[in-house]
Amino acid sequence: MILLTPGPVQTSPEVPAAAACDIAPWDREFSPEYAGIRDAVREIAGGKPGEHATLPLQGCGHFMVEAAVRTFVEPGAKILVPNNGQYAERIARLAEECGRMPVVLPVPDTRGVTAEEVAAALAGDPAITHVGLVHSETGSGIVNDPAVVGAAVRAAGRRMILDSVSAFGALPLDIAAMPECDAVLFTSNKCLEGLPGIGFAVCPVERTRARRGQAGSWCFDLGDVLWHGENKGWGSFRFTPPVQALRAFGVAVEAYRREGGQAARLARYQENMRILRDGAVALGLRPYLDTAHQGPIILTLHEPDLAGWSLQGFTDALKRRGFLISNFHTTPTPSIRIAAIGANTPEVMHRAVSAMGEALQELREVRAAA
Ligand SMILES: *Cc1c(COP(=O)(O)O)cnc(C)c1O
Repeated sequence: MILLTPGPVQTSPEVPAAAACDIAPWDREFSPEYAGIRDAVREIAGGKPGEHATLPLQGCGHFMVEAAVRTFVEPGAKILVPNNGQYAERIARLAEECGRMPVVLPVPDTRGVTAEEVAAALAGDPAITHVGLVHSETGSGIVNDPAVVGAAVRAAGRRMILDSVSAFGALPLDIAAMPECDAVLFTSNKCLEGLPGIGFAVCPVERTRARRGQAGSWCFDLGDVLWHGENKGWGSFRFTPPVQALRAFGVAVEAYRREGGQAARLARYQENMRILRDGAVALGLRPYLDTAHQGPIILTLHEPDLAGWSLQGFTDALKRRGFLISNFHTTPTPSIRIAAIGANTPEVMHRAVSAMGEALQELREVRAAA
């Protein structure tokens, strides 16, 4: 089965194979492996040794968003969330449930937020301390530009938390050039093409050090994760990690380097996206986003006006042909969502488009026979 989903993503066979072992996280052989992974990830984020640190947590992307909100936003303080999709809504919900105050800035889910919109919202409410921005909105497929928005946040003297979960490793990012950024968040899965199981924050060391003990949670305190690294060693853990998934992630990061890093990965995903989008249009499907706002990660398509259409029926028909897509909607009007990410080549995308054509034809024929 080929996954065309934005997490878990398709992996190369060498990645899950590396997880087929019994190892202990505190073993002297594994500790340097883990410390090396932290360094590699900080480098991908553009972080500087000594100035930025990789702060992993066991778990998923939402855990990282919650950890960053708890660690950096004071209880009761306001966080502005430009809302152009489902994942932005989730930041607002996580913030609210942690006792922080989300201020939602409505933005259509068909384009990125502009610097002007963010600047105006910040100017209008001096009590906002943070902006929670989704880098690649996995709901619709648009991209928010963290450099552009970050400049507005910086100019207003506020801080930023960046949910880069579906972008990190593919879209360019340089945390060293973003002094307003408290945290860049991502996972082992998605564009780094590892197994799910570990979340990462890359954070400025001094800021994070000062925040220890203020999260209202020991598990989600990134200041405590930093303290542990600085005092017990970068190869050590507070709690049992998914150690096999970490080893597999090391293999995935090695493959990322071999491929050529961020530029090469982005180029492959862009080509995958071009093939998917052109192919879908040729099949008569209508993209949810204009070309100008189409990001390279997620393609959303309006559901076709086809008698007998159901997303589950289409998903099943595609699955019979070896491709798995999401069977739920992530846009306000129903759409089909297909990911261009994961260890899939353009050749796989051509086959996926053929399978989509066959699946649509099958739905038509089933309907005609009924
Ligand atoms: C996948 C994703 C997350 C996290 O999802 P989990 O299921 O918690 O790993 C968060 N934000 C974005 C933008 C995502 O794409």
